[in-house]
Amino acid sequence: MRRNKLSFLEIDYENMAKKDKKSSEKGKVRAPFQSPKGMHDILPLDEPMWEKLRKDVRTIAEAYNFRRIDTTLLEPLDLFLRSLGASSDIVEKQMFAFRTKGGDMLVLRPEGTASVMRAYIQHGLSHLGQPLKLYYIGPMFRYEQPQAGRLRQLHQAGFEILGGDEDPVYDAQVILACYRVLESAKIKQLIVRVNTIGCRNCRPNYRKKLTDYYAGRGGNSNKEKLMCRDCKRRLEENPLRLLDCKVPGCIALKKDAPVMLDSLCSFCKNHFKNVLEYIEELKIPYALDHHLVRGLDYYNRTVFEIFTESEAPADSKAPEGKLGPQKFEYALGGGGRFDYLAEMIGGRETSAVGGAVGLDRVVEVMKAFGVSSGRAVEKVFLIHIGDLAKKKSLALIEMLRHEGINVAETLGKESLKAQLRSADKGGSSVVLIFGQKEALEDSIIIRDLRTGAQETIPLHKIAAEVKRRFK
Ligand code: AMP
Repeated sequence: MRRNKLSFLEIDYENMAKKDKKSSEKGKVRAPFQSPKGMHDILPLDEPMWEKLRKDVRTIAEAYNFRRIDTTLLEPLDLFLRSLGASSDIVEKQMFAFRTKGGDMLVLRPEGTASVMRAYIQHGLSHLGQPLKLYYIGPMFRYEQPQAGRLRQLHQAGFEILGGDEDPVYDAQVILACYRVLESAKIKQLIVRVNTIGCRNCRPNYRKKLTDYYAGRGGNSNKEKLMCRDCKRRLEENPLRLLDCKVPGCIALKKDAPVMLDSLCSFCKNHFKNVLEYIEELKIPYALDHHLVRGLDYYNRTVFEIFTESEAPADSKAPEGKLGPQKFEYALGGGGRFDYLAEMIGGRETSAVGGAVGLDRVVEVMKAFGVSSGRAVEKVFLIHIGDLAKKKSLALIEMLRHEGINVAETLGKESLKAQLRSADKGGSSVVLIFGQKEALEDSIIIRDLRTGAQETIPLHKIAAEVKRRFK
């Protein structure tokens, strides 16, 4: 019997196949397969919007000199244990992890930053220049409770600036790149919430103040009793995470919690002041959020998240069919500085800062506001009549493709009516009709579907004529 060890489970494929066969023999109607929970296909009707977004990310990245990197989808589990922290929500609850047949512990990457830094160290990318600006676009995987804006397969576009020194101007440049992507998606009333969480020198002092506040030391408090179970544990392991809790009771508790700003060392204070000055110079709207910490271990100093404050109209297409004005409570992007990450995963000390935009959420907001993906790519529709024309159509399509003209066709259909119907559905306004007579005479009919006007022209002039009409 062949067995595969996956997720610590021994999968007995033969037995599964037998059961499957038996159930079909019993005449049961089998339900069609569905994509896994929290994971969506991107369908053809949505692709133009996605493609526009991906293209805008590429254009923005290139304009600011970020170079593309594509890291592997699977990573060693330890990479995230060490970088995100064993007590982070992602590691504790959201990893799609499994053991391979060879015994390696792997995980579907839950985020891009640790992977990019892993690749940077592994391939000695510092020789490409300091700092090195990199960007990526791709799927990430988190075992979350699916809801609007929270998926198990999510797509991010990320910008990282690695190496060089820890100049605050790089923090501002990363925020700018993320901001520009959201702006290109025509999302209005964007606001960057920004904070600093200090460095190895000043953070211990702040951590103590936080612990004292939550544990009630030096005052009379029963906060610990009011905290959720996770926060009680966070108080022992990583009190900064108390500020990140989304449970309503815990949100109320953090209202009077001490803020990092009062505990910063002079270097961090100055660094943060400069970051704010630079983003002000770039005219990026921002708000200080003293309790923004972000739940991963690798961050230091700057942390930020970007939100929209605009509301979609009541008749907007809300996810899950909801109606009524929509507020978007979730972050569309976020990031921060991670100067210690390289050391945490076995590299040399490397200053670094980065951020990522959640593309699924951006598309959701674009849809709610009715943002269109711009002009569709123009295509001609080629109709053939008869066998000779069908055969000659193959070379004709190649010639048009060579000239940069996109061609739609239904070469498998013979009837003119059926082909015209397909042309109409496909949205082409220019149709080429290639019949037996035209095939013999090396000519073709070009017809404008909007006006119905048509003319016959020599085949060698067709590419120029189509281009002229598309202009
Ligand atoms: P993070 O890597 O958690 O900092 O997330 C960066 C951005 O990715 C967020 O601001 C969101 O826009 C998006 N994002 C994070 N988690 C999810 C999720 N589960 N589903 C959809 N988008 C997400």
